[in-house]
Amino acid sequence: MKRTHYCGEINTQNIGEKVILSGWVHRIRHHGGLIFVDLRDRSGIVQLVFDPSISQKSYSIADTLGNEWVITVEGKVRKRPEGMENPRIPTGEVEIEVNDIIIENTSKPLPFNLWSNKEIDETVRLKYRYLDLRREKMQSNLIFRHNFILALRNFLSKNGFLEIETPYLIVSTPEGARDFIIPSRLQPGKFYALPQSPQLFKQILMVSGFDRYFQIVRCFRDEDLRADRQPEFTQLDLEMSFVTQEDIFNLIEELFKETLKKTLGLDLEIPFPRLTYEEAMNTYGSDKPDLRYDLKIIDVTEVLKDLPLDFIKSTLEKKGVIKGIPLKNILPSRKEWSTIENKVRELKGKGIMWFSLEEELKSSISKYLDEETKNKLKKYLDLQPGDSFFCIAGDWKEVVKILGIIRLEIANLFNIPKKEGLSFLWITDFPLFEYDEEEKRIVAEHHPFTSPKEEDLPLLDKDPLKVKAQCYDLVLNGTELGSGSIRIHKREIQEKVFSILNIPPEEAKRKFGFLLEAFEYGAPPHGGIALGIDRIIAILTNSNSLRDVIAFPKTQSGTCLLTGAPSDVDPKQLEEVHIKVVYPEKED
Ligand code: ASP
Repeated sequence: MKRTHYCGEINTQNIGEKVILSGWVHRIRHHGGLIFVDLRDRSGIVQLVFDPSISQKSYSIADTLGNEWVITVEGKVRKRPEGMENPRIPTGEVEIEVNDIIIENTSKPLPFNLWSNKEIDETVRLKYRYLDLRREKMQSNLIFRHNFILALRNFLSKNGFLEIETPYLIVSTPEGARDFIIPSRLQPGKFYALPQSPQLFKQILMVSGFDRYFQIVRCFRDEDLRADRQPEFTQLDLEMSFVTQEDIFNLIEELFKETLKKTLGLDLEIPFPRLTYEEAMNTYGSDKPDLRYDLKIIDVTEVLKDLPLDFIKSTLEKKGVIKGIPLKNILPSRKEWSTIENKVRELKGKGIMWFSLEEELKSSISKYLDEETKNKLKKYLDLQPGDSFFCIAGDWKEVVKILGIIRLEIANLFNIPKKEGLSFLWITDFPLFEYDEEEKRIVAEHHPFTSPKEEDLPLLDKDPLKVKAQCYDLVLNGTELGSGSIRIHKREIQEKVFSILNIPPEEAKRKFGFLLEAFEYGAPPHGGIALGIDRIIAILTNSNSLRDVIAFPKTQSGTCLLTGAPSDVDPKQLEEVHIKVVYPEKED
């Protein structure tokens, strides 16, 4: 018996037809001397009816079936009797009157209930991933993922992009994370790195004249895994020659407009709003703000600078700021204020002050407030009765970062409504470098191949930390989807940036000599971007975790619970690649 249809395709137009279906036994019910079986495949579910008066043999076999057994049936499509329709499923008006059945395979009882609405322990789900992937949500996530990537490819191909594969066994490409390394068997003591991104290869492809490149590509970063990271993840990576930042923004906006229309029927508004890095930090305390919440940070240094409070004096002496968040139509209780205060303290914030405008302006610093300051503050913030405000004082970067986190806590605490839909946002004008306090050195804010802004070139020597980059991030609903930049394409500038990053010329030559040399053979100006596909799909499918949109993901500790990777290897394999394992000493 060879399958003629998918289960979910059968509808009233097939009534009277003979069909052959294959799939999994989803549910079995005995009723009125008949056996009803819901048969499931990836397209959906259809109801089978086993009637002993039609086929005694099939009825007897159906009587032995268990859940998740695999069967093939032959039967006739018929309309369900009046009143027996199921409007919740697309095949709910029909059923299959079975006259032959083959059992393809049986199934042990399942280790967990696949179809319950209750949360299932994720370690169990990942161990039995083949079962977990049978669930409707997982099936629809992976089907959506396929459709979305297909739409991306079609859009890019139509727009003149070529998908070109770059190697996975490479020398290190720095993106600020640790490399996964692979020992070479043929060259003892040498190692490949898995790509953190195809960055250098895509730039080389521009030197080769390919002009518009893209790739749906796996990238590998050996980082301590935070909740929303995977050691291997998929990027849409692209690069273009002879372009400005604007061209890249236009392309990406058009790309989302088309792919979201094709896959979700959405009408996306473009262009996306933009904020400079400084505006984003000043107004939202984050370089990936979630603009669906209408909460903004406001600077009140001017208004409160004369308060007779020591911490304000010392803050201002150190050129610090006082900033806070107005809460419209919210009067937090004492308990809620202390929740906010505690959170600020947890984040090492100082100088917290709150103000509630009931009939009078109440405040945590009432005794230091004169009428004039009160009025100034009310006017400045346009506080109306029922509104409140809180602020903190300190160093600019610390203050905005803390407020950025508190902003989201407040949204949660007071159930502040979110705007519906997708909130895309470009962040521009990042600094080229930042000072890494831990490592006590200048590091690249994006990566070392990002071009400084033309007008800031003279600052490279004088004050590198002031140099702005031709670099941008794309943010969706408060999540960074990815970054890109216009690149350096001149050897002298690339060498200068390496030297500011404290990479000695010999090391630069050893690691990136091929790129520096390529720049000397007619390298065109170029730029690009890379976007995290897993993150995009997770947001578009309303999934809580990246693991719900990746077929075979790793856990937080980088383990594949299905296959057991990483695993021990045969001593002979180690010998072949010239590796001896030195285990860390056991702590008592
Ligand atoms: N290679 C960069 C990254 O992986 C993206 C880019 O600059 O195009 O973040």
